[in-house]
Amino acid sequence: MEKILTVNKLTKKFGYLTAVKDLSFSIEKGNVYGILGPNGSGKSTTLGIVLNVVNRTSGDFSWFDGNTSTHEALKKVGAIIERPNFYPYMTAVQNLKLVCKIKEVSEDKIEEKLELVGLLDRKNSKFRTYSLGMKQRLAIASALLNDPEILILDEPTNGLDPQGIHQIREIIKKIASEGTTILLASHLLDEVEKVCSHVVILRKGEKLYSGRVDGMLASYGFFELKFNDMDKLKSILEDNSSFGEIKIDNGLLTAFLKEEMNAEVLNRFLFEKGIVLSHLVKRKESLEEQFLTLTKSQTN
Ligand code: ADP
Ligand code: MG
Repeated sequence: MEKILTVNKLTKKFGYLTAVKDLSFSIEKGNVYGILGPNGSGKSTTLGIVLNVVNRTSGDFSWFDGNTSTHEALKKVGAIIERPNFYPYMTAVQNLKLVCKIKEVSEDKIEEKLELVGLLDRKNSKFRTYSLGMKQRLAIASALLNDPEILILDEPTNGLDPQGIHQIREIIKKIASEGTTILLASHLLDEVEKVCSHVVILRKGEKLYSGRVDGMLASYGFFELKFNDMDKLKSILEDNSSFGEIKIDNGLLTAFLKEEMNAEVLNRFLFEKGIVLSHLVKRKESLEEQFLTLTKSQTN
């Protein structure tokens, strides 16, 4: 796979506060990456560092093949890390023409990009008449004018109404389907699940998980069981390699699966061991619960 960005043991300290700690991950061409974490977990700082607007404390990062200077590389990056800011009394087209002049790219793509973000019919409206969602979409069009290799977005749907959120997500998916790599920061699990193929989960600047989104979601669920001799039940389950963590709480045993198993199979297995359960329920953790488990389970 072709590498777009490699981040290696990146650390950023603001005085005593470590905003990003020893963070490593890499971004490969054609995927949609989410940096997911609660507010203050270091998402914007990480994006700021790789975009050269925040100085790193230690560690490093490299763009593309590793031989491209950051200055050169950033010409092939489209990024929106702040609230969209254009000239209020100029139209969308006038604003984008100005962006083309500043970026030294041709004006040929203006209509195509406005079409992509659904603003072609409003191209001659003044920026100040745009809704927040339209402003955000204009910013995306602007960031795409030079056909970047990668589009970077920081909390692209913050502050938008449900319809605006939906439009932005659909546009991101469309841009990705045309082959542009995407990196977006979000504190919304649901957003990452809907839009991204890969995720880096941060908590207090530290990486908790990185990999495919469906890998994060892969959980085989757990059983809740009751039997009159809980310790015996527990020790039998502990000898079964299908189970990971097993705990007993308030007279209820919870056994987490490491692989697929249905209730019938477990029931028969235990019955053959002389265990007749008084309670058997199979549950699957919701995504939300898994994310909360991931972000809570590290204490410092
Ligand atoms: P996120 O984008 O995930 O919400 P940030 O990267 O903005 O998180 O912030 C990470 C941590 O670094 C937070 O505790 C934040 O208060 C702190 N921080 C960010 N920027 C600065 C700064 N310029 N000066 C001091 N602290 C900062
Ligand atoms: Mg942020």
